[in-house]
Amino acid sequence: MKKKNKKSDVKLKFSGGWEYAPAPESKDHIRLKEKYDLFINGKFTEPETGKYFASINPSTEAKLADVAEAGDKDVDKAVKAARVAYENVWSRMPAAERGKYIYRIARIMQERAREFAVIESMDGGKAIRESRDVDVPLAAAHFFYYAGWADKLDYALPGAKAKSLGVAGQIIPWNFPLLMAAWKIAPALATGNTVVLKPAETTPLTAMKLAEVIQEAGLPPGVVNIVTGAGATGAAIVNHPGINKVAFTGSTEVGKIIQKTLAGSDRKYTLELGGKAANIIFEDAAIDQAVEGIINGIFFNQGHVCCAGSRLFVQESVADKVVRKLKDRMETLIVGDPLDKNTDIGAINSKDQLEKIRKYIKIGVNEGGEMYQSSCSVPSKGFWCRPTLFTNVSQSSRVVQEEIFGPVLAVQTFRTVEEVIEKANNIPYGLSGGVWTDKGSKIFKVTSQIRAGVIWANTYNKFDPTSPFGGYKESGVGREGGLHGLIPYLQTV
Ligand code: NAP
Ligand code: MG
Repeated sequence: MKKKNKKSDVKLKFSGGWEYAPAPESKDHIRLKEKYDLFINGKFTEPETGKYFASINPSTEAKLADVAEAGDKDVDKAVKAARVAYENVWSRMPAAERGKYIYRIARIMQERAREFAVIESMDGGKAIRESRDVDVPLAAAHFFYYAGWADKLDYALPGAKAKSLGVAGQIIPWNFPLLMAAWKIAPALATGNTVVLKPAETTPLTAMKLAEVIQEAGLPPGVVNIVTGAGATGAAIVNHPGINKVAFTGSTEVGKIIQKTLAGSDRKYTLELGGKAANIIFEDAAIDQAVEGIINGIFFNQGHVCCAGSRLFVQESVADKVVRKLKDRMETLIVGDPLDKNTDIGAINSKDQLEKIRKYIKIGVNEGGEMYQSSCSVPSKGFWCRPTLFTNVSQSSRVVQEEIFGPVLAVQTFRTVEEVIEKANNIPYGLSGGVWTDKGSKIFKVTSQIRAGVIWANTYNKFDPTSPFGGYKESGVGREGGLHGLIPYLQTV
């Protein structure tokens, strides 16, 4: 008889019949303030609105801190501070000096990695294993990588002389809060631009910790400004005439609004938007390895991943075997306390997101899909979703066509390479994908004919600061990461 772990209210069971003892990461070293003000011109500044909102821990629903809500006047102050810092300091500084500041941010972030990882898991709900092993190290790696570019920009665009744009307005989502901030801030600073960044309403805390690191690194005031708030704060940044470039990561819906706002202006933009990736398993793939890749592709970070492998295509001859193995593996996944080092799947980021996921699960069932959910227990408080799989779905099913942004996988079968390429492309998105096969020729055919920014072969969800990332079709405009990620922050002179 398996016992329930009373202390954490989660049963950490393994299908082999034994249980993991809880292994929670300590919170003792975490210093969170009760209230976070806006970070403008190098100082924490009370908002003109006088308003604050709560950021909660989605795994307990407990309030973590009050966070300032920036209005139009606050955004204006931040943009002005960024402009003055750009004109007087940052754009005039020798590039190698700029690089030193960025290196300093990277090093302090590494020193405080544990603190960042724990706060990321508390504020956003993701498993500590991911924030510790993926989010924080990758965020530091982005600062290190772009620090190296600062004094080498002449080599980035051979034959052309490049110059910074001015003030970049940057708006990020809640699924990788610190990592997205690093994706945005690091290339902007390396290219000599100054920044006004808005984190997502549900996950502002690691951005505020980053503001502390920026202070500690001694960056000149106004080079990076961080304004918290909801969608209206983001819109105030986009609409501000003092912004030279908008870098947005978020939903296709909001991306379209931003594109309309900026159309016809001379302001540059990059949009990193939604996705609905195809993960394709051929019969000659190493099946156990592929099953791990599918699990990682869709259940990593609760499926809150723009490049999640949310559509699985399995070659017919191995479909039964793959689905059976998948279900067995899903049973072993541990859903629960994000701070427990055994946890595979943490909390859903917010109540709204959980409702959206549940709505889609209902739609999938009503459309005739066959649903399978892992039988694991979940805590009574907080926002949770068991890993979910749909078979018997068609190309037109909404769970196949629309982005759910949760741990929900839709499985279809195929017979030929041509068929799966056509099915994979039959979608408004084109951000990412995966292919599992023993044959290099199939990898070449699939990766060259599927319209997606990144396609992993015999692996999934691997990121590196040197590698560009971005979408085709409704998945976005422009690229971030690598050398390509510098270009949207530069103009040739
Ligand atoms: P979202 O609702 O579009 O929000 C993204 C950010 O924009 C948030 O900071 C949000 O503020 C802000 N915002 C909302 N309305 C705005 C407006 N009218 N003008 C300017 N800013 C506005 O997206 P989300 O639900 O947070 O994130 C999930 C989406 O992001 C998914 O579609 C996912 O695929 C996409 N994503 C894409 C990538 C990529 O690299 N392609 C990476 C990660 C995520 P508040 O949320 O604070 O209200
Ligand atoms: Mg939160």
